[in-house]
Amino acid sequence: MTKATLLGTPAVREPREPRRTGSSYYIRTFGCQMNEHDSERIAGLLEADGMTRTDDAADADVVVLNTCTIRENADQRLYGYLGSLKADKQKNPGMRIAIGGCTAQKDKEIVRERAPWVDVVFGTHNIHRVVDLLDRADEWGPVTEIWEESGSPDDAPSFLPTRRESEHSAWVTITTGCNNSCTFCIVPIVRGPEISRRPGDVIREIQRLAEEGVVEVTLLGQNVNSYGRDLDLNGRQPLFADLLRRAGEVEGIDRIRYTSPHPKDIQEDVARAMAETPSVAAQLHLPLQSGSDRILSVMHRGYTGRRFLDKLTMARRLVPDLSISTDIIVGFPGETDADFAATLAVVEESRFDSAFMFQFSPRPGTPAASMPDHVPVDVVQERFDRLVEMQNAITYQRNQARVGMIERVLTEGPSRRNPAVATTRTEGNRIVHVDGVHEPGRFLDLRVTRAAPHYLEGTLV
Ligand code: SF4
Repeated sequence: MTKATLLGTPAVREPREPRRTGSSYYIRTFGCQMNEHDSERIAGLLEADGMTRTDDAADADVVVLNTCTIRENADQRLYGYLGSLKADKQKNPGMRIAIGGCTAQKDKEIVRERAPWVDVVFGTHNIHRVVDLLDRADEWGPVTEIWEESGSPDDAPSFLPTRRESEHSAWVTITTGCNNSCTFCIVPIVRGPEISRRPGDVIREIQRLAEEGVVEVTLLGQNVNSYGRDLDLNGRQPLFADLLRRAGEVEGIDRIRYTSPHPKDIQEDVARAMAETPSVAAQLHLPLQSGSDRILSVMHRGYTGRRFLDKLTMARRLVPDLSISTDIIVGFPGETDADFAATLAVVEESRFDSAFMFQFSPRPGTPAASMPDHVPVDVVQERFDRLVEMQNAITYQRNQARVGMIERVLTEGPSRRNPAVATTRTEGNRIVHVDGVHEPGRFLDLRVTRAAPHYLEGTLV
Protein backbone atom coordinates (compact mmCIF):
# COMPACT_ATOMS: atom_id res chain seq x y z
CA MET A 1 0.00 0.00 0.00
CA THR A 2 1.38 3.42 -0.90
CA LYS A 3 1.65 6.29 1.51
CA ALA A 4 -0.69 8.31 -0.69
CA THR A 5 -3.37 5.65 -0.30
CA LEU A 6 -2.95 5.64 3.43
CA LEU A 7 -3.23 9.37 3.79
CA GLY A 8 -5.96 9.89 1.26
CA THR A 9 -9.44 9.05 2.43
CA PRO A 10 -11.59 9.63 -0.65
CA ALA A 11 -15.34 9.72 -0.05
CA VAL A 12 -15.76 6.78 -2.42
CA ARG A 13 -13.22 4.05 -3.13
CA GLU A 14 -11.62 3.97 -6.52
CA PRO A 15 -12.26 0.62 -8.23
CA ARG A 16 -9.31 -1.70 -7.76
CA GLU A 17 -8.36 -5.25 -8.49
CA PRO A 18 -9.78 -7.68 -5.91
CA ARG A 19 -7.11 -8.38 -3.29
CA ARG A 20 -8.79 -10.92 -1.07
CA THR A 21 -9.66 -13.56 -3.64
CA GLY A 22 -9.91 -16.97 -2.01
CA SER A 23 -10.61 -15.66 1.48
CA SER A 24 -13.94 -15.77 3.27
CA TYR A 25 -16.12 -13.43 5.24
CA TYR A 26 -18.90 -13.84 7.77
CA ILE A 27 -21.40 -11.09 8.49
CA ARG A 28 -23.91 -10.85 11.30
CA THR A 29 -26.57 -8.15 11.52
CA PHE A 30 -28.22 -6.86 14.67
CA GLY A 31 -31.25 -4.55 14.57
CA CYS A 32 -33.40 -2.95 11.95
CA GLN A 33 -34.05 -3.06 8.21
CA MET A 34 -31.66 -0.14 7.70
CA ASN A 35 -28.90 -2.31 9.17
CA GLU A 36 -29.93 -5.31 7.06
CA HIS A 37 -29.66 -3.14 3.98
CA ASP A 38 -26.27 -1.77 5.10
CA SER A 39 -25.08 -5.35 5.60
CA GLU A 40 -26.05 -6.17 2.02
CA ARG A 41 -23.79 -3.33 0.89
CA ILE A 42 -20.93 -4.41 3.15
CA ALA A 43 -21.26 -7.96 1.77
CA GLY A 44 -21.26 -6.54 -1.77
CA LEU A 45 -18.03 -4.62 -1.11
CA LEU A 46 -16.31 -7.67 0.39
CA GLU A 47 -17.37 -9.86 -2.54
CA ALA A 48 -16.15 -7.21 -4.99
CA ASP A 49 -12.80 -7.61 -3.23
CA GLY A 50 -12.82 -11.32 -4.05
CA MET A 51 -14.20 -12.79 -0.84
CA THR A 52 -16.84 -15.48 -0.52
CA ARG A 53 -19.40 -15.74 2.21
CA THR A 54 -19.30 -18.37 4.93
CA ASP A 55 -21.90 -19.20 7.56
CA ASP A 56 -19.25 -20.16 10.09
CA ALA A 57 -17.59 -17.22 11.84
CA ALA A 58 -14.90 -19.45 13.37
CA ASP A 59 -13.46 -20.24 9.91
CA ALA A 60 -13.83 -16.78 8.40
CA ASP A 61 -10.92 -14.56 7.43
CA VAL A 62 -13.04 -11.46 8.01
CA VAL A 63 -15.91 -11.22 10.50
CA VAL A 64 -18.16 -8.17 10.28
CA LEU A 65 -20.73 -7.36 12.97
CA ASN A 66 -23.22 -4.68 11.98
CA THR A 67 -24.55 -3.51 15.31
CA CYS A 68 -27.67 -1.97 16.80
CA THR A 69 -28.02 0.14 19.91
CA ILE A 70 -31.76 0.67 19.97
CA ARG A 71 -32.21 -1.75 22.85
CA GLU A 72 -30.03 -2.71 25.74
CA ASN A 73 -30.16 -6.45 25.07
CA ALA A 74 -28.70 -5.85 21.60
CA ASP A 75 -25.56 -4.46 23.29
CA GLN A 76 -25.41 -7.42 25.66
CA ARG A 77 -25.72 -9.86 22.78
CA LEU A 78 -22.97 -8.04 20.88
CA TYR A 79 -20.44 -8.13 23.71
CA GLY A 80 -21.31 -11.75 24.49
CA TYR A 81 -20.69 -12.63 20.88
CA LEU A 82 -17.43 -10.66 20.75
CA GLY A 83 -16.24 -12.78 23.69
CA SER A 84 -16.70 -15.97 21.68
CA LEU A 85 -14.96 -14.40 18.67
CA LYS A 86 -11.92 -13.70 20.83
CA ALA A 87 -11.39 -17.45 21.24
CA ASP A 88 -11.83 -17.98 17.47
CA LYS A 89 -9.25 -15.30 16.77
CA GLN A 90 -6.76 -16.89 19.15
CA LYS A 91 -6.97 -20.07 17.06
CA ASN A 92 -6.89 -18.12 13.80
CA PRO A 93 -4.73 -15.01 14.39
CA GLY A 94 -5.14 -13.88 10.77
CA MET A 95 -8.85 -13.29 11.35
CA ARG A 96 -9.90 -9.64 11.05
CA ILE A 97 -12.90 -8.51 13.11
CA ALA A 98 -14.75 -5.37 12.01
CA ILE A 99 -17.55 -3.72 14.01
CA GLY A 100 -19.87 -1.29 12.25
CA GLY A 101 -23.35 0.13 12.77
CA CYS A 102 -24.90 2.19 15.54
CA THR A 103 -23.02 0.78 18.56
CA ALA A 104 -19.72 1.37 16.78
CA GLN A 105 -20.81 4.90 15.93
CA LYS A 106 -21.91 5.75 19.47
CA ASP A 107 -19.55 3.70 21.63
CA LYS A 108 -16.29 3.45 19.73
CA GLU A 109 -14.17 3.85 22.88
CA ILE A 110 -16.25 1.31 24.79
CA VAL A 111 -15.96 -1.22 21.97
CA ARG A 112 -12.18 -0.74 21.92
CA GLU A 113 -12.00 -1.02 25.72
CA ARG A 114 -14.22 -4.08 26.03
CA ALA A 115 -12.95 -5.89 22.94
CA PRO A 116 -9.38 -4.81 22.16
CA TRP A 117 -9.09 -7.77 19.76
CA VAL A 118 -11.37 -5.94 17.29
CA ASP A 119 -9.41 -4.77 14.23
CA VAL A 120 -11.76 -2.23 12.63
CA VAL A 121 -14.41 0.02 14.19
CA PHE A 122 -16.36 1.94 11.53
CA GLY A 123 -19.32 4.30 11.76
CA THR A 124 -22.73 4.45 10.14
CA HIS A 125 -21.49 6.78 7.38
CA ASN A 126 -18.24 4.89 6.74
CA ILE A 127 -19.62 1.72 5.18
CA HIS A 128 -18.13 2.48 1.77
CA ARG A 129 -14.67 2.51 3.41
CA VAL A 130 -14.82 -0.97 4.94
CA VAL A 131 -12.37 -2.63 2.52
CA ASP A 132 -9.86 0.21 2.82
CA LEU A 133 -10.12 0.05 6.60
CA LEU A 134 -9.42 -3.69 6.54
CA ASP A 135 -6.35 -2.95 4.40
CA ARG A 136 -5.19 -0.39 6.93
CA ALA A 137 -5.72 -2.84 9.79
CA ASP A 138 -3.62 -5.44 7.89
CA GLU A 139 -0.86 -2.92 7.48
CA TRP A 140 -0.96 -0.86 10.65
CA GLY A 141 -3.07 -2.63 13.25
CA PRO A 142 -6.42 -1.64 14.79
CA VAL A 143 -8.18 1.27 13.11
CA THR A 144 -11.25 3.34 13.98
CA GLU A 145 -13.10 5.57 11.53
CA ILE A 146 -16.28 7.24 12.65
CA TRP A 147 -18.45 9.86 11.05
CA GLU A 148 -18.29 12.95 13.27
CA GLU A 149 -19.79 15.77 11.24
CA SER A 150 -22.83 15.98 9.03
CA GLY A 151 -22.72 13.28 6.42
CA SER A 152 -23.52 13.57 2.75
CA PRO A 153 -25.86 11.54 0.56
CA ASP A 154 -22.78 9.99 -1.04
CA ASP A 155 -22.03 8.28 2.24
CA ALA A 156 -24.76 5.75 1.43
CA PRO A 157 -24.34 5.62 -2.32
CA SER A 158 -26.57 3.49 -4.45
CA PHE A 159 -23.63 2.54 -6.63
CA LEU A 160 -21.94 0.45 -3.96
CA PRO A 161 -21.94 -3.22 -4.94
CA THR A 162 -24.65 -5.02 -3.01
CA ARG A 163 -25.14 -8.66 -2.16
CA ARG A 164 -28.89 -8.86 -1.69
CA GLU A 165 -30.38 -11.50 0.60
CA SER A 166 -33.28 -11.91 -1.82
CA GLU A 167 -33.20 -12.03 -5.61
CA HIS A 168 -36.70 -10.62 -5.97
CA SER A 169 -37.00 -8.12 -3.08
CA ALA A 170 -34.72 -5.19 -2.32
CA TRP A 171 -34.37 -2.26 0.06
CA VAL A 172 -33.89 1.22 -1.36
CA THR A 173 -32.69 3.95 1.00
CA ILE A 174 -34.38 7.29 0.38
CA THR A 175 -33.17 9.14 3.49
CA THR A 176 -30.59 8.58 6.18
CA GLY A 177 -30.63 10.11 9.67
CA CYS A 178 -33.50 11.90 11.38
CA ASN A 179 -34.33 15.49 12.33
CA ASN A 180 -36.79 14.55 15.07
CA SER A 181 -35.92 14.27 18.73
CA CYS A 182 -37.99 11.47 20.21
CA THR A 183 -36.65 11.25 23.73
CA PHE A 184 -36.29 7.44 23.75
CA CYS A 185 -34.44 7.22 20.44
CA ILE A 186 -30.73 7.07 19.74
CA VAL A 187 -31.07 7.30 15.94
CA PRO A 188 -30.50 11.08 15.57
CA ILE A 189 -27.31 10.69 17.63
CA VAL A 190 -25.88 7.70 15.76
CA ARG A 191 -27.23 8.36 12.26
CA GLY A 192 -27.10 12.17 12.27
CA PRO A 193 -29.43 14.69 10.67
CA GLU A 194 -31.75 13.68 7.86
CA ILE A 195 -30.28 13.58 4.38
CA SER A 196 -32.49 12.82 1.38
CA ARG A 197 -31.26 11.19 -1.78
CA ARG A 198 -32.24 12.98 -4.97
CA PRO A 199 -35.37 11.50 -6.55
CA GLY A 200 -33.59 10.80 -9.84
CA ASP A 201 -30.97 8.73 -8.02
CA VAL A 202 -33.66 6.77 -6.16
CA ILE A 203 -35.61 6.07 -9.34
CA ARG A 204 -32.47 5.04 -11.24
CA GLU A 205 -31.64 2.59 -8.47
CA ILE A 206 -35.15 1.11 -8.65
CA GLN A 207 -34.89 0.82 -12.45
CA ARG A 208 -31.56 -0.97 -12.11
CA LEU A 209 -33.07 -3.36 -9.56
CA ALA A 210 -35.95 -4.10 -11.93
CA GLU A 211 -33.44 -4.90 -14.68
CA GLU A 212 -31.81 -7.37 -12.26
CA GLY A 213 -35.12 -9.18 -11.72
CA VAL A 214 -36.33 -7.50 -8.53
CA VAL A 215 -40.14 -7.26 -8.36
CA GLU A 216 -40.61 -5.77 -4.89
CA VAL A 217 -38.86 -2.78 -3.30
CA THR A 218 -39.14 -1.29 0.17
CA LEU A 219 -38.27 2.41 0.43
CA LEU A 220 -36.39 3.06 3.66
CA GLY A 221 -36.14 6.18 5.78
CA GLN A 222 -36.48 7.03 9.47
CA ASN A 223 -39.30 9.45 8.64
CA VAL A 224 -40.22 9.06 4.98
CA ASN A 225 -42.80 11.87 5.17
CA SER A 226 -40.09 14.47 5.60
CA TYR A 227 -38.33 13.17 2.50
CA GLY A 228 -37.02 15.99 0.31
CA ARG A 229 -37.25 18.82 2.83
CA ASP A 230 -33.47 19.24 2.65
CA LEU A 231 -33.38 19.22 -1.16
CA ASP A 232 -33.74 22.07 -3.59
CA LEU A 233 -34.63 21.06 -7.15
CA ASN A 234 -34.74 24.35 -9.02
CA GLY A 235 -36.50 26.05 -6.15
CA ARG A 236 -38.85 23.14 -5.44
CA GLN A 237 -38.72 20.47 -2.80
CA PRO A 238 -39.61 16.96 -3.94
CA LEU A 239 -42.37 15.27 -1.93
CA PHE A 240 -42.56 11.70 -0.76
CA ALA A 241 -45.96 11.30 -2.45
CA ASP A 242 -44.37 12.25 -5.80
CA LEU A 243 -41.55 9.81 -5.22
CA LEU A 244 -44.07 7.03 -4.57
CA ARG A 245 -45.88 7.81 -7.82
CA ARG A 246 -42.64 7.90 -9.80
CA ALA A 247 -41.49 4.62 -8.25
CA GLY A 248 -44.85 3.18 -9.28
CA GLU A 249 -44.04 3.90 -12.91
CA VAL A 250 -40.93 1.72 -12.95
CA GLU A 251 -41.68 -1.21 -15.19
CA GLY A 252 -41.16 -4.62 -13.60
CA ILE A 253 -41.61 -3.44 -9.99
CA ASP A 254 -44.99 -4.84 -9.01
CA ARG A 255 -44.97 -4.18 -5.29
CA ILE A 256 -43.69 -1.14 -3.42
CA ARG A 257 -43.62 -0.83 0.35
CA TYR A 258 -42.13 1.87 2.52
CA THR A 259 -41.15 2.33 6.12
CA SER A 260 -41.55 4.32 8.26
CA PRO A 261 -43.98 7.20 8.03
CA HIS A 262 -44.41 9.47 11.07
CA PRO A 263 -47.93 9.96 12.47
CA LYS A 264 -47.37 13.71 12.89
CA ASP A 265 -46.30 14.13 9.27
CA ILE A 266 -48.31 11.72 7.13
CA GLN A 267 -50.85 13.62 5.03
CA GLU A 268 -53.60 12.89 2.52
CA ASP A 269 -51.24 13.29 -0.44
CA VAL A 270 -49.34 10.15 0.57
CA ALA A 271 -52.54 8.14 1.12
CA ARG A 272 -53.84 9.29 -2.27
CA ALA A 273 -50.56 8.31 -3.93
CA MET A 274 -50.88 4.89 -2.31
CA ALA A 275 -54.47 4.48 -3.49
CA GLU A 276 -53.79 5.71 -7.03
CA THR A 277 -50.53 3.82 -7.66
CA PRO A 278 -51.40 0.16 -8.28
CA SER A 279 -47.98 -1.22 -7.36
CA VAL A 280 -47.86 0.56 -3.98
CA ALA A 281 -49.03 -1.96 -1.37
CA ALA A 282 -52.06 -1.11 0.74
CA GLN A 283 -49.97 -1.45 3.84
CA LEU A 284 -48.92 1.14 6.40
CA HIS A 285 -46.57 0.83 9.36
CA LEU A 286 -47.49 3.77 11.57
CA PRO A 287 -45.67 3.78 14.94
CA LEU A 288 -48.04 4.74 17.79
CA GLN A 289 -45.49 4.30 20.67
CA SER A 290 -48.07 5.33 23.33
CA GLY A 291 -51.75 6.23 23.48
CA SER A 292 -51.32 8.65 26.39
CA ASP A 293 -51.19 12.32 25.39
CA ARG A 294 -49.00 13.07 28.39
CA ILE A 295 -46.47 10.34 27.55
CA LEU A 296 -46.54 11.23 23.85
CA SER A 297 -45.67 14.79 24.80
CA VAL A 298 -42.75 13.67 27.01
CA MET A 299 -41.63 11.43 24.15
CA HIS A 300 -41.66 14.50 21.82
CA ARG A 301 -43.80 12.65 19.33
CA GLY A 302 -45.81 15.66 18.15
CA TYR A 303 -49.31 14.13 18.15
CA THR A 304 -52.01 13.01 20.55
CA GLY A 305 -53.84 9.70 20.72
CA ARG A 306 -56.88 11.30 19.02
CA ARG A 307 -54.75 12.83 16.28
CA PHE A 308 -53.18 9.42 15.64
CA LEU A 309 -56.63 7.85 15.34
CA ASP A 310 -57.68 10.62 12.94
CA LYS A 311 -54.69 9.77 10.73
CA LEU A 312 -55.75 6.12 10.69
CA THR A 313 -59.28 7.13 9.72
CA MET A 314 -57.95 9.32 6.93
CA ALA A 315 -55.67 6.57 5.59
CA ARG A 316 -58.39 3.90 5.76
CA ARG A 317 -60.86 6.22 4.02
CA LEU A 318 -58.51 6.85 1.11
CA VAL A 319 -56.75 3.47 0.77
CA PRO A 320 -59.12 0.52 0.30
CA ASP A 321 -58.44 -2.58 2.41
CA LEU A 322 -55.47 -0.95 4.12
CA SER A 323 -53.44 -3.14 6.46
CA ILE A 324 -51.89 -1.25 9.39
CA SER A 325 -49.12 -2.25 11.76
CA THR A 326 -47.48 -0.28 14.55
CA ASP A 327 -44.79 -0.06 17.26
CA ILE A 328 -45.68 0.40 20.93
CA ILE A 329 -43.42 1.00 23.94
CA VAL A 330 -44.67 -0.15 27.35
CA GLY A 331 -43.29 1.29 30.58
CA PHE A 332 -41.88 4.62 29.39
CA PRO A 333 -40.61 6.57 32.46
CA GLY A 334 -43.50 8.00 34.43
CA GLU A 335 -46.13 5.86 32.69
CA THR A 336 -49.05 5.51 35.11
CA ASP A 337 -51.94 3.05 35.08
CA ALA A 338 -54.04 5.80 33.49
CA ASP A 339 -51.43 6.36 30.75
CA PHE A 340 -51.32 2.67 30.01
CA ALA A 341 -55.11 2.49 29.95
CA ALA A 342 -55.03 5.25 27.31
CA THR A 343 -52.65 3.12 25.23
CA LEU A 344 -54.99 0.13 25.49
CA ALA A 345 -57.92 2.34 24.45
CA VAL A 346 -56.11 3.58 21.33
CA VAL A 347 -55.00 0.04 20.46
CA GLU A 348 -58.55 -1.23 20.82
CA GLU A 349 -59.91 1.50 18.58
CA SER A 350 -57.07 1.27 16.03
CA ARG A 351 -57.64 -2.40 15.18
CA PHE A 352 -54.04 -2.85 14.06
CA ASP A 353 -53.39 -5.85 11.86
CA SER A 354 -50.18 -6.45 13.78
CA ALA A 355 -47.90 -4.69 16.25
CA PHE A 356 -44.30 -4.75 17.40
CA MET A 357 -44.53 -4.33 21.16
CA PHE A 358 -41.53 -3.49 23.34
CA GLN A 359 -40.74 -2.98 27.00
CA PHE A 360 -38.98 0.34 27.54
CA SER A 361 -35.21 -0.03 27.67
CA PRO A 362 -33.16 3.09 28.51
CA ARG A 363 -30.50 3.94 25.94
CA PRO A 364 -27.56 5.83 27.40
CA GLY A 365 -27.28 9.18 25.67
CA THR A 366 -31.03 9.65 25.19
CA PRO A 367 -33.08 12.07 27.33
CA ALA A 368 -35.40 9.25 28.44
CA ALA A 369 -32.49 7.35 30.03
CA SER A 370 -32.08 10.05 32.67
CA MET A 371 -35.78 10.69 33.28
CA PRO A 372 -37.09 9.95 36.78
CA ASP A 373 -39.87 7.54 37.69
CA HIS A 374 -38.77 4.43 35.87
CA VAL A 375 -41.61 1.94 36.03
CA PRO A 376 -40.86 -1.19 38.13
CA VAL A 377 -39.98 -4.23 36.03
CA ASP A 378 -42.89 -6.34 37.29
CA VAL A 379 -45.38 -3.57 36.48
CA VAL A 380 -43.95 -3.22 32.96
CA GLN A 381 -44.18 -6.98 32.47
CA GLU A 382 -47.78 -7.11 33.64
CA ARG A 383 -48.81 -4.23 31.35
CA PHE A 384 -46.87 -5.72 28.46
CA ASP A 385 -48.63 -9.09 28.87
CA ARG A 386 -52.02 -7.38 28.85
CA LEU A 387 -51.17 -5.40 25.72
CA VAL A 388 -49.85 -8.46 23.90
CA GLU A 389 -52.98 -10.39 24.82
CA MET A 390 -55.24 -7.63 23.51
CA GLN A 391 -53.30 -7.11 20.27
CA ASN A 392 -52.94 -10.86 19.60
CA ALA A 393 -56.71 -11.22 19.84
CA ILE A 394 -57.19 -8.32 17.39
CA THR A 395 -54.57 -9.74 15.00
CA TYR A 396 -56.35 -13.11 15.07
CA GLN A 397 -59.73 -11.49 14.41
CA ARG A 398 -58.26 -9.47 11.53
CA ASN A 399 -56.76 -12.68 10.11
CA GLN A 400 -60.06 -14.56 10.46
CA ALA A 401 -61.78 -11.82 8.48
CA ARG A 402 -59.55 -12.71 5.51
CA VAL A 403 -60.86 -16.30 5.24
CA GLY A 404 -62.57 -16.76 1.88
CA MET A 405 -60.84 -13.75 0.31
CA ILE A 406 -58.58 -13.90 -2.73
CA GLU A 407 -55.12 -12.54 -1.93
CA ARG A 408 -52.37 -11.74 -4.43
CA VAL A 409 -49.24 -13.05 -2.77
CA LEU A 410 -45.53 -12.97 -3.52
CA THR A 411 -43.74 -16.28 -2.98
CA GLU A 412 -40.74 -16.25 -0.65
CA GLY A 413 -39.60 -19.89 -0.70
CA PRO A 414 -40.20 -23.12 1.19
CA SER A 415 -41.55 -22.85 4.71
CA ARG A 416 -38.81 -23.33 7.30
CA ARG A 417 -40.90 -25.94 9.12
CA ASN A 418 -42.22 -27.88 6.14
CA PRO A 419 -40.46 -27.78 2.78
CA ALA A 420 -43.56 -29.20 1.10
CA VAL A 421 -45.29 -25.90 1.86
CA ALA A 422 -44.37 -22.50 0.39
CA THR A 423 -44.34 -19.26 2.38
CA THR A 424 -45.88 -16.30 0.62
CA ARG A 425 -46.77 -12.73 1.61
CA THR A 426 -49.89 -10.71 0.88
CA GLU A 427 -50.07 -7.07 -0.12
CA GLY A 428 -51.04 -6.36 3.50
CA ASN A 429 -47.85 -8.14 4.68
CA ARG A 430 -49.55 -11.26 6.05
CA ILE A 431 -47.88 -14.63 5.67
CA VAL A 432 -49.89 -17.25 3.77
CA HIS A 433 -48.76 -20.87 3.55
CA VAL A 434 -49.72 -22.80 0.43
CA ASP A 435 -49.07 -26.44 -0.46
CA GLY A 436 -46.47 -27.23 -3.07
CA VAL A 437 -43.12 -25.99 -4.26
CA HIS A 438 -43.28 -22.48 -5.75
CA GLU A 439 -40.32 -20.60 -7.08
CA PRO A 440 -39.53 -17.51 -4.97
CA GLY A 441 -40.38 -14.14 -6.47
CA ARG A 442 -43.61 -15.14 -8.25
CA PHE A 443 -47.04 -13.60 -7.75
CA LEU A 444 -49.89 -16.06 -7.15
CA ASP A 445 -53.59 -15.66 -6.46
CA LEU A 446 -54.63 -17.62 -3.39
CA ARG A 447 -57.95 -18.16 -1.69
CA VAL A 448 -57.52 -17.94 2.09
CA THR A 449 -58.85 -21.14 3.63
CA ARG A 450 -57.79 -20.87 7.26
CA ALA A 451 -56.58 -18.24 9.71
CA ALA A 452 -54.12 -18.88 12.52
CA PRO A 453 -53.19 -16.20 15.07
CA HIS A 454 -50.11 -15.09 13.11
CA TYR A 455 -50.48 -16.51 9.59
CA LEU A 456 -52.99 -17.68 7.01
CA GLU A 457 -53.33 -20.77 4.85
CA GLY A 458 -54.53 -20.73 1.26
CA THR A 459 -55.04 -22.67 -1.94
CA LEU A 460 -54.24 -21.69 -5.50
CA VAL A 461 -57.12 -20.11 -7.35
S1 SF4 B 1 -38.75 9.82 14.24
FE1 SF4 B 1 -38.23 9.62 16.40
S2 SF4 B 1 -38.20 7.37 16.73
FE2 SF4 B 1 -38.06 7.69 14.51
S3 SF4 B 1 -35.84 7.73 14.10
FE3 SF4 B 1 -36.49 9.86 14.38
S4 SF4 B 1 -36.09 10.29 16.54
FE4 SF4 B 1 -36.07 8.05 16.29
